[in-house]
Amino acid sequence: MSPVYDSNNIFAKILRGEAPCTRVYEDEVALAFMDIMPRAEGHLLVIPKAPARNILDLAPAALARFMPSVQKVAIAAKAAMAADGLSIMQFNESAGGQVVFHLHFHILPRWTGVELRPPGGPIEKSGKLAANAAKIAAALKES
Ligand code: 5GP
Repeated sequence: MSPVYDSNNIFAKILRGEAPCTRVYEDEVALAFMDIMPRAEGHLLVIPKAPARNILDLAPAALARFMPSVQKVAIAAKAAMAADGLSIMQFNESAGGQVVFHLHFHILPRWTGVELRPPGGPIEKSGKLAANAAKIAAALKES
């Protein structure tokens, strides 16, 4: 039997406003906020509002409505952070590296010769998250 969606996961709580986040962007289908343990400067997450555990269980039509938001945030993040490139990562189930079981896309600004930090921390200072969020939000307003 496939694992089921657990509505008590931390991103579902963020979507319901029950847990805090450093918000960057929101539209009808997506929410974007800063990753609390960034693996790169400006690392953020884009999640669908639809309750999906990962990419395996989101309805294709909902995925099609959601992906333009991922692209929009990615373009803005690259511009705002003056990055040379971007890594977009998405993990499925524990064996695939997934830790939080609400579908999310990692947007990781990249610079030539700069390695990603390891996953799992440390937790970034809230002021730094807010500063990067403001830069990316400003780039989104211009897009
Ligand atoms: P994944 O499930 O794709 O392996 O990674 C989950 C990501 O969520 C990690 O990069 C982790 O730093 C991030 N994360 C975990 N808990 C929170 C949280 O409470 N708030 C935010 N903003 N990010 C979180």
